[in-house]
Amino acid sequence: LAKQNGNDHFQFYVASIDQEIRDRKQLEKDLSQALASHQLHLVYQPQINLESKRVIGAEALLRWDHPVRGLVPPDDFIPVAESNGTIVEIGQWVLEQACWQAARWAAESTPLRIAVNLSAVQLRQDNIVNDILETLQRHNIPAGRLELEVTETSFMTNLSDAVEKLHRLSKAGISIAVDDFGTGYSSLTYLKQMPVQHLKIDKQFIRDLLVNEEDTRIANTIIDLGKSLNLSVVAEGVETAEQEYYLSQRGCQLAQGYYFSKPLQPREFETFVKGFHEQFAENNA
Ligand code: C2E
Ligand code: MG
Ligand code: MG
Ligand code: MG
Repeated sequence: LAKQNGNDHFQFYVASIDQEIRDRKQLEKDLSQALASHQLHLVYQPQINLESKRVIGAEALLRWDHPVRGLVPPDDFIPVAESNGTIVEIGQWVLEQACWQAARWAAESTPLRIAVNLSAVQLRQDNIVNDILETLQRHNIPAGRLELEVTETSFMTNLSDAVEKLHRLSKAGISIAVDDFGTGYSSLTYLKQMPVQHLKIDKQFIRDLLVNEEDTRIANTIIDLGKSLNLSVVAEGVETAEQEYYLSQRGCQLAQGYYFSKPLQPREFETFVKGFHEQFAENNA
């Protein structure tokens, strides 16, 4: 009987793996059509200078509105897109769309810096540097207005290739941020070789910043590291006034998070910027 049971378990297990593989295949298939079917769009999260209380830019974040599943979070589909290579095409679309939006904002209101997440898989492409520079030119966006967010995994597979490409991008005037800093295989050697301007403290360290002493120390360390290497530090996932106050007192210059705003549609973003700036203009008057 025991054996029988074990066997049942085994078959159940196989069946669930089988289901998972089918789900994943379906997701891949859907993803390959998502672009052409206009199911992807970008939302923009304001990035705030904590000292001047100005919105200095926006991070573009990808959304997939799946016809059956509804909104699929990027953490669920970006890894799939990376493993089958669709991220290359999707990433190019993201850049295109973000530049188009940045050009509109520059024409209609104030120019803003736009931050785009660049996958390690994209950075490995031979033409990536030219593709990025060409896209900027086509939309007439000065390179200084684009920031690329890369993660530490981008440096791992082929360090010298990544260094070379980031240097070319940086020489052109694009700024580079290390996203989710402290969660990957951080190495100070990478930081020394990379033309990096910003470190982004991962939201997992911000969530319990004022509750968990280890998180406080980690955040402090990243802020101090930024100071000593002359990099500006961005805190992501700031959700409370207390976190904002602590970070700004501690010398963290930039922040984004639900405390200020969740990622927004372009129109909502414009309204947010106006309201935010008016609020602080009043406070200073
Ligand atoms: P990320 O680049 O580290 O982006 C920050 C994530 O934190 C975003 O999740 C954002 O919506 C979320 N967030 C912002 N403020 C708060 C907050 O106060 N509290 C909490 N709990 N979360 C906050 P999202 O949009 O789901 O994106 C997840 C990840 O997917 C991104 O992490 C990035 O790694 C990836 N991703 C998103 N868009 C793109 C893209 O266009 N290309 C690539 N390659 N990756 C992307
Ligand atoms: Mg990011
Ligand atoms: Mg991040
Ligand atoms: Mg993250």
